[in-house]
Amino acid sequence: MQSMHFIGNDWFAGTTGKTFDCVDPATGQVFATLPAGGAAEVDAAVTAARQAFEGWKATTGTDRARILRAIARAITANRDRLASLETRDNGKPLAEAFLDVDTIAQIYDMYADLAEDLDRRGEEAVAVPGGAFRTTVAYRPIGVVGMITPWNFPLEQFTWKVAPAIAAGCCAVVKPSEFTSLSALEIAGIIAEAGLPAGVLNVVTGLGSEAGEALVRHPGVDKISFTGSTATGKRIMRTAAEDLKRVGLELGGKNPVVVFDDVDIEAAVEWVAFGAFINQGQVCTATSRLLIQDGIADRFLKRLVEVTEAIRVGAGTEEGVKMGPLVSQPQYDKVMAYIGAGRAAGAKVLTGGGRPMGRDAGFFVQPTIFAEVTPDMSIWREEIFGPILSVMRFANEAEAVRLANDTAYGLAATVLTADAARAERVADALDAGITWQNCNNMVVIQAPWGGVKKSGMGRELGRWGLESFLEPKQKTRWLPGGGLGWYDIPATAAE
Ligand code: NAD
Repeated sequence: MQSMHFIGNDWFAGTTGKTFDCVDPATGQVFATLPAGGAAEVDAAVTAARQAFEGWKATTGTDRARILRAIARAITANRDRLASLETRDNGKPLAEAFLDVDTIAQIYDMYADLAEDLDRRGEEAVAVPGGAFRTTVAYRPIGVVGMITPWNFPLEQFTWKVAPAIAAGCCAVVKPSEFTSLSALEIAGIIAEAGLPAGVLNVVTGLGSEAGEALVRHPGVDKISFTGSTATGKRIMRTAAEDLKRVGLELGGKNPVVVFDDVDIEAAVEWVAFGAFINQGQVCTATSRLLIQDGIADRFLKRLVEVTEAIRVGAGTEEGVKMGPLVSQPQYDKVMAYIGAGRAAGAKVLTGGGRPMGRDAGFFVQPTIFAEVTPDMSIWREEIFGPILSVMRFANEAEAVRLANDTAYGLAATVLTADAARAERVADALDAGITWQNCNNMVVIQAPWGGVKKSGMGRELGRWGLESFLEPKQKTRWLPGGGLGWYDIPATAAE
């Protein structure tokens, strides 16, 4: 297990003398300590990245694809090590950590293909009428990218940024979440061994207010790619505006699922429970608002409660566990405070609402469902980021769409119905960057991921992820030769 900053393919203890603890969410015990970097560490990492960029930007997509494929193979070879570290640090069930590791290997392979496509694409011709110009567009890497990631999917969020940036020819300085930094360090070492040149990828661990701020302020950074809360995203955008850094923001959500009365109840209940409780509900696209049509509401909720109560909660390493602890004490406190606020506002707890029996240590919270919720309640309006589902009923399609869209966020939205035409119509009417029909919280890595409204700007994954690290550069040639003939230019005086 690595416990130092990773700069220029080497390990550094840092100079601040400050540290922070890594806590096992299943026990609440400290099991590692990491250096809390500041401006000096960020400067060293950005300097290494800028130096590396000179050589890296000159490589071909095919060169970069070779390394990306080697990274994918190295991840698979280190599958067990990465998954168990992720579970220990984040708390998620081991089966989910394995899924994350397998997915990131696929993502490095996908960006290998897309890096090769860049070579095939070459410079794109632009059709210009008149014949005076030949214009092409070349795609250039943006430069050095500062990447700031959250704690809910540490390896995935790292990869969603690092893989396309490498494919594009950019260099990266990553500041992982202070709650889950270990897997970023581990994978950085694996990536270096797979052949990535020194300085192309660097990792500085530390707090958002110190290392994170220093990265956003650093003049050597061309773009900030951020995933995290809407509040931090706004702050980052303000700071980045000072020297007009590009920003990509993947922020929060308050995602609705609309369930019509024609569904297969068994299948729909499972999709709703999956969306609400996978990864302990700590998913930006987590289903946190259920809109259920009147006709089946009682039957549906009864079955949803049964299914929810059968979810096995425990340490991520325990056999058969489908829900682990929340990531940290602050997150536990925040989720418990929302449960208290829901109760105080008059919502009714259908199931859950506290700590599971027999789990006295660690950050465990029961999967919780609230009914009798009204649109003004904080549990309906604000992102909780935990296993809490709030329910409202609706009478017809128009009302469902209105209630679903009545939110500041616009990340994901789901519709479950047996009527294919209605599914299509409602998906089109929902204000969200990602929509699911008759499934929920399925990540298609080839498709664009990101939100509208206060859920952010820009897209990750697929070719959209690659484009976010490229600048189009116009190259126009004057075909007739000679000057334009615009001015009445006097003849040159005889010498
Ligand atoms: P957060 O905003 O508290 O922290 C995210 C990262 O930002 C951390 O690395 C943190 O250290 C850093 N940070 C904090 N303050 C900073 C500052 N002033 N300057 C620079 N960096 C700073 O979010 P979190 O609690 O880690 O993650 C949960 C949030 O992430 C939720 O809102 C969730 O919806 C969102 N999220 C979104 C997506 C998506 O794809 N849209 C994916 C995962 C998580």
